[in-house]
Order: sequence, then structure tokens, then C-alpha cells
Amino acid sequence: MKTMMQAAVCTGLETMEIQSVPVPKPGPGEVLVEVKATGLCGSDVDGYVGHHPMIEWPIILGHECSGIIAAVGSGVKEWQPGDAVVVEPFFTCKTCSACKRGQYNLCVDLKIIGHQIPGSLAEYVLAEAGFVHRKPANLSFAEAALSEPVSGALHAVERTGIRLGDQVVVIGCGTIGSLAMQHALNKGAEVMISEPMAFKREAAKNLGVHQVVDPTSESLRDRVQAWTSGVGADCVIEAVGLPETLAETVKLVRRGGTVMLIGWSGQESDAIDLTTVTLDELTLLGTLGFCHDYPTSLKLMGQNKVTVAPLLTHRLPLTQVERGLQMLKNHEAGVWKIAITSEEVV
Ligand SMILES: [Zn+2]
Ligand SMILES: [Zn+2]
Repeated sequence: MKTMMQAAVCTGLETMEIQSVPVPKPGPGEVLVEVKATGLCGSDVDGYVGHHPMIEWPIILGHECSGIIAAVGSGVKEWQPGDAVVVEPFFTCKTCSACKRGQYNLCVDLKIIGHQIPGSLAEYVLAEAGFVHRKPANLSFAEAALSEPVSGALHAVERTGIRLGDQVVVIGCGTIGSLAMQHALNKGAEVMISEPMAFKREAAKNLGVHQVVDPTSESLRDRVQAWTSGVGADCVIEAVGLPETLAETVKLVRRGGTVMLIGWSGQESDAIDLTTVTLDELTLLGTLGFCHDYPTSLKLMGQNKVTVAPLLTHRLPLTQVERGLQMLKNHEAGVWKIAITSEEVV
């Protein structure tokens, strides 16, 4: 077992360095994972440009990760070196009231890999043995790494209580929006998605969405009104996080409907019409990460009921993490999800 490893360290504003750092040792209840793939996420870009409230430099970024168990700490019985796994990127305290209620994503001492503790854009990463899940054999490591956003989208959609036949609007066909769309379709909803990028609208159509809207050339509100005979959507899922799209949600939903805010602007206050929330008896929901969602996500992915293959537009080696972050930051044409991986795909 080697003692030093390569890691992509964000050392300051828009500065990534490939450094040689010690391979961490798993403590009690922890496992060491040899990383095979990490999905680059919007939050990695936020950390890189200094806009993420939980990320301070220097930090090894990366939290959407899959790999192979390399070593286990004391007390770990369920994993053996060589097991192929995905990592649910949390460390939790197990003792706070949220942890005791089973809502571990709301732990007062929640630590997220690649946010407050070293991430997976490295050759190895530490994980809690209880937050590691077996990789479905029919998924590549890059696909399996995307169980992280699949789980985040699942957590949000499960919270909405979407029912068979509901008309659901998803704002934004980014990674999370496209996955929330797939979960809503699986629940038997009729789904409309709003997305400015043409190639993502095409991919959404191929994944079975019923309605696509280009918000740069048509009014989403008019389309929703026409589609729902003036009633409004049963549920609106916001997966962008811009002040305008957050505010738009309450104008699209029907009286008594549900709004799920996955996106967030980072501002203390956004211009959402709370009078309408009250007088139309809306249900306004937030979401943070995932909680008991990975097993279901991995089943759905293994059964091909949720597919991430169309999202994976680019694969880069660890040495090119900064290039990948720049591609995402600059919204380069045709770039959707970038996997940092050395895996050969056949
Ligand atoms: Zn992420
Ligand atoms: Zn806790």
C-alpha cells in the first residue's frame, strides 16, 4: 500500500494544484476507498470560485464518488478490500436530535466530503463504512458516481408527494433537474421541463418528458396555463437557484399545489410572493442532500429506470480537474456532466 497519493487541491480563488499528499488511514468505523470516478458538480465550481458557504481553502474538492475498498478501519465487518462501492459523502455525529430522529442529512455536525473534509478528487478518500453502498455490477464507475445527484433528486421528489397523473413543472434541466424529471416520470406524472439549452431539451425528450419549453423564446407561465387549462401545475420543482426562477414558482403552481425548491440563491431573502403561498394554501418545501435514498437510487439505476448515460458528456483524468471546472464555469457548449476518471469504458 502506497503512503503518498495525488490529489487535486483547491488552494485559493480559481487555483487548483495537483499535490502529493499522504494517503489517509481509516479510523474506527471508516473505510479507505480507491477512487475510480468523481462527478464534477456545481458545488465544486462554487467552491473553486469562492461562492460556497461550506467550502474553505485549501481543500480537496469532489463528493460524487465511486471506487474500490482499499482498506478498512477497526470494527468494520461488512466491507472487504476489493469491494466495488459508491460513497454517500457524509460524516454525521450519530448523537444530535436530527441523527436520533433518523434525519441524518440534518445533523448539526454534518460534514460533507469535499466541503469541510477531504474530497474524492484524489487517488483515495475516506468514508464512513455505514455510508458506503455496493456498486451495481452493470454500471460503470462514472455512472455509479452519479448516484449522488440521483439520490439528491430522489430525496426532493419523494418529499413532494407527486402522485399518478399529476402535472409537474421542472425548472432547469441541469443534472439535478433532469434526474428529478426522471423520478417524476417514474411516478406516473405528466412532466413539463423548462431549459434554455437546446441539447438538454433534446435529451429530455429522449428520456420521455411530455413538454419542453425554451424560456428564452417563450413564456413558461403561458405554456403552463395552456397545458393545465388555466389551473396551474400540481407541483413545481425549481432546480436552478436564480432569484427570478425561484420567484416564478408560485406563479406556475395551482391553488393548493406544492413547490419544491432544490435550487437556492445564497441570498438571505428572495422575492417569493408569500401572500400567494398563504392565500393559495401552497406547500413550500426545501431539501438538503439525501437521507436513506441511496439504496433506492442504486436499484433504479441498476434496473435502468433512471439513466445517467446521456448526462455524462465528458471524461477527464485527475490532472485535468481544473480544465473541467473551467468548462462548467464557462458553460461551454455541449458540456453537461464531467466525470474525473481513469476508467476505460468499453
Ligand atoms: Zn454534487
Ligand atoms: Zn448528528
